[in-house]
Amino acid sequence: MADYRETLYEGYGQQLRIDELLHEGHTDQQHLVIFRNARFGRVMALDGVVQTTEADEFIYHETLAHVPILAHGAVRRVLVIGVGDGGILREIVRHAGIEEIVAVEIDAEVIALCREHLPQHSAGALDDPRLRLVIGDGLDFVATTEERFDVIISDSTDPGGPASSLFGADFYRNCQRCLNADGVLATQNGVPFLQPDELSGTARHLAATFADWGFFLAAVPTYIGGAMSFGWASNSQRARATDLATLQQRFAASGLRTRYYNAEVHQAAFALPQYMRELIDG
Ligand code: SAM
Repeated sequence: MADYRETLYEGYGQQLRIDELLHEGHTDQQHLVIFRNARFGRVMALDGVVQTTEADEFIYHETLAHVPILAHGAVRRVLVIGVGDGGILREIVRHAGIEEIVAVEIDAEVIALCREHLPQHSAGALDDPRLRLVIGDGLDFVATTEERFDVIISDSTDPGGPASSLFGADFYRNCQRCLNADGVLATQNGVPFLQPDELSGTARHLAATFADWGFFLAAVPTYIGGAMSFGWASNSQRARATDLATLQQRFAASGLRTRYYNAEVHQAAFALPQYMRELIDG
């Protein structure tokens, strides 16, 4: 049996046995591999980097979807940048109060191949009548749209490939413009221990653009190197200041059945260790 070796970091990496190769090839944009591993289930990787596995995806998707949505408390319109496997959409459509979801993905083949080989990730969300799918670049979309959103979620790949533009000043400025008054932007922001520049760079951009900003954390086993960070930004302090009792009440009222998210984990996720604070403070 061959092994899949991740090439994200020089001199350090994870290796997963390919127990069954399901797909390998180049899309217009990226190199895509989907395989089965006995421990992690089906695994999808883009350009040498593990994107998701069936075993641990719930940690990432529940955190990135439910933290901004339940902190806001009255979300009707959501924008998702980077659809990929559809795991984020699966969690978003579980919120009954959401009326419209716009999802922008640069690489249609990723969606099609994940729908075929990782159907549990999207679990029907790609067919939800509230969803409008746009194939195109996320930065182009936020730079040109006149639509406004309560929550924007950037579920991107790492900077380097097509997602580089989703980590620049233009992207954050345009997201700020596209948010409603109490709206929240939440972003995939890498593993700070191994990708420190992503944390310090995003902090600089968010500080220059938003009234309220910060980061929240979750440890996802196949995003190796410790806890990963998610960017948080808003034009008001309201959503992040939501207290524990309110989060507990909203979570109970949502009827969500989760495996990772709960109100206590939500609140604790915003506590950052010293080495991350130092990266943020420069
Ligand atoms: N949901 C994944 C997970 O579980 O980790 C996160 C990664 S998801 C596969 C990232 C998606 O973002 C990919 O499908 C990629 O094609 C897409 N993407 C990258 N750059 C983009 C851009 N500039 N605009 C829109 N989508 C982009």
